[in-house]
Amino acid sequence: MKKIKGNSVSIGVAIGKAKIINKHELYIKNKKILKSEIKFELSRFKEDVKFVINELDKLIQDYTYSKENRDILESHKLILQDPEFNKRISILISEDQNCLEQAINTYFTEAIDIFSNVNNKYLSHKVNDFEDVAYRLLSHIKGERKDILEDVDENSILIMENISPSFVTTVFDKNIQGLCTERGSRNSHSSIIARSMNLPMLVNTMGLLGNIKDGEDLIIDGNDGYVIISPTKSVLKKYEAICKKEKNIQKGLLSLIDKESITKDGKKIKLMSNIEIPQEIDQVLKYNSTGIGLFRTEFLFIDREDLPTEEEQYKIYKDIVEQCKPNPVTIRTIDVGGDKLSNILNITYEQNPNLGCRGIRISLQNIPIFKQQIKAILRANIHGNIKIMFPMISGVEELLKVKEIIKICSKELINAGITFNADMELGAMIEIPSAVITSDLIAEECDFLSIGTNDLIQYILAVDRDNQSISDYYKPTHPSVIRSIKLTVDNAHKHGIKVAVCGEMASEKEYVKLLLALGVDELSVSPGRLLLIKKEIINCDIAKMKLKLEKILSCKTSTDVDKLL
Ligand code: PEP
Ligand code: MG
Repeated sequence: MKKIKGNSVSIGVAIGKAKIINKHELYIKNKKILKSEIKFELSRFKEDVKFVINELDKLIQDYTYSKENRDILESHKLILQDPEFNKRISILISEDQNCLEQAINTYFTEAIDIFSNVNNKYLSHKVNDFEDVAYRLLSHIKGERKDILEDVDENSILIMENISPSFVTTVFDKNIQGLCTERGSRNSHSSIIARSMNLPMLVNTMGLLGNIKDGEDLIIDGNDGYVIISPTKSVLKKYEAICKKEKNIQKGLLSLIDKESITKDGKKIKLMSNIEIPQEIDQVLKYNSTGIGLFRTEFLFIDREDLPTEEEQYKIYKDIVEQCKPNPVTIRTIDVGGDKLSNILNITYEQNPNLGCRGIRISLQNIPIFKQQIKAILRANIHGNIKIMFPMISGVEELLKVKEIIKICSKELINAGITFNADMELGAMIEIPSAVITSDLIAEECDFLSIGTNDLIQYILAVDRDNQSISDYYKPTHPSVIRSIKLTVDNAHKHGIKVAVCGEMASEKEYVKLLLALGVDELSVSPGRLLLIKKEIINCDIAKMKLKLEKILSCKTSTDVDKLL
């Protein structure tokens, strides 16, 4: 038995078999060919690429695949259609007299080397795409095809070096027990999705891949942050008991599905869900959420080569809005940048991406793209109840610009004779210190505020939300964070508007009572946490908690606050 420490990003215990998701490995012969064989190798190349492109086309047309996956496949097709690729392979075969396999292997090894060494997060992500394409093509040529998730079953715990958002969407439909990565962080979007799926997940399990074999018995202890490889019988028994208890708790929570989220002292708290990809709507409906408090729309702009059209966006929003009706769907406009990478939105290399062109700044620098999104939202609002929300607002100026753009979009839709509904609540995310400080001014311009604690904590405490090595500084209960929430709530209430918290702090049960005592009106949480948080709300006596609040607000350190909580 071996035990490796990691950081839990999604709680719970998983027991299963390790399924290592590795780089695809194929044995490639380095064989030189004769001049007389060149023509044959070149024709083979043409045929094999044609075969794989056809294969990709078929998969792209398979609508049982999610849109994200089909976009990834489209990008793989582009790699094979790149004239540079064709030119280089022809040279490697004709001039260097490499056999076809060797030529393809050389091309992709060179490309992967280049992308692995660039200091640009988006380009370094391209490595996965190149690896996938190389494997698809070479395995076809060699006749050794194996789907990466082929033998994944409901017993599997996936182990990998890191997990990209696009891979998470692939895994989403699979029935697995848990996930473990050697790298990654709590606030990465893959971790957020794991929480939404209620899958135990650990990140930062350094050395795990070197210590584990495919198919080995495995336990993920997402409560204490351990992976246990080949557990002894007694350890396994202990965890089986914990697992059983957790399943019973989960089952018990199901009885809350139809209960209202009202505190002991009678305050009704609106409890909504955050979604990251459209497939999560099933969880939202299953747990009877009273709407979507944060619909992140980044998935439309990452891991793809082309921009989503207004029509594509309209259909996606319409679909979600119709399913949630009459409950609201709060659509947050594009929030790429920082950790959320997009190659289609013109973000050049930035030394400080989290302080760079992200959130609303991107939209205001790409007005035509922003207008497409706004128009799609205005049109989809005919079919249900949309609230629109803007990320990374630093002050009133951006809101005034945004409102002007909405007016222009409305006029353009009228002129084009397209039906829409501009009657929707407009909100700002409060996640930058300047927005907290001017929240009274921002509140005057909005119908609601929503506190994004993930970023708020990052910016207030100047601590990168994705940097595991300084995660001890990332303190949700730091007095500055608590005071910021209080100031925002007080200012919003003075102006008669409501405040939601949609950052992960709302999904952590230990903070729920504090948030409610601070006056927060609504919580939006990972769908997988909805019932757990509902239980906290039902068990909360706000009046009693408010008596504690004075003490909490006078605490000097987060340790003191944590003790009081
Ligand atoms: C937040 O910052 O708290 C938030 C909800 O937005 P995101 O995590 O998408 O940045
Ligand atoms: Mg944010």
